[in-house]
Amino acid sequence: MFQTSVLASGSKGNSVLVRSRDSAILVDAGISMKRVFHALEQLKVPLKILKGIIISHEHSDHTKGAGAISRRLKIPIYVSPDTYAFCAHKLGDLKDRLAYFETGTPFEVGNILVNPFSSSHDAIDSSNFVFEYDEKKLGVAIDLGYPSGLTVHKLSGAHTLILESNHDHEMLMDGPYDWALKMRVKSNKGHLSNEQAVGLISQILHPGLKTIVLAHLSEINNHPELAFQLMQNYLHSVRSDIRLMVASQDCHTPLIDI
Ligand SMILES: [Zn+2]
Ligand SMILES: [Zn+2]
Repeated sequence: MFQTSVLASGSKGNSVLVRSRDSAILVDAGISMKRVFHALEQLKVPLKILKGIIISHEHSDHTKGAGAISRRLKIPIYVSPDTYAFCAHKLGDLKDRLAYFETGTPFEVGNILVNPFSSSHDAIDSSNFVFEYDEKKLGVAIDLGYPSGLTVHKLSGAHTLILESNHDHEMLMDGPYDWALKMRVKSNKGHLSNEQAVGLISQILHPGLKTIVLAHLSEINNHPELAFQLMQNYLHSVRSDIRLMVASQDCHTPLIDI
């Protein structure tokens, strides 16, 4: 068994569950402990198999609930030293449950292999991840400015992909953000647009890719239907039957077999 669920995703908070039969990991916990526990209960994932929380970068939409969950379940928080320096105050007292990882160096949590790699996003040491177990590979890339060669290389061969599809380019440019913020979002250190998400998929499409979950959609500069339709049109154009889903800010996806 190797499964994932996006517990929540969007600018107000992100958290992704990755689980084998007896180990589970949270990738970020940018929603409250209460919401995480509620989602896990509904998914029938026992809290006792949760082995740690991995933090991708210091922004609050990825860290908000992490300290409280770590303290309640007495589980470690895995974070890079630079990221920790920027969010220690948000995580609170972790006692001896702080575990450092180095971006670019794989490590194990329970029996799941975690491979963190650099993402271009405006944080001190932002990571995207590949998880491997039982010869299956999951890619989680929900905050990235643009799909670098490294991103394409690392996500290649994934069987399931949780991928940022943050904004529709036109909605962003016509929308209410001020000019500086528009430029930040669309820069190489901002967020991936719907069009860029399609471009990335076109580079890594392979017969083993079964499921794509579009994530981190902007509430203001995107619509779930727009993001879904653009990717679905592309997948149809290449006669792909990949299952396509859109993660939501307010409710979790079902458990997805990776
Ligand atoms: Zn961020
Ligand atoms: Zn984010």
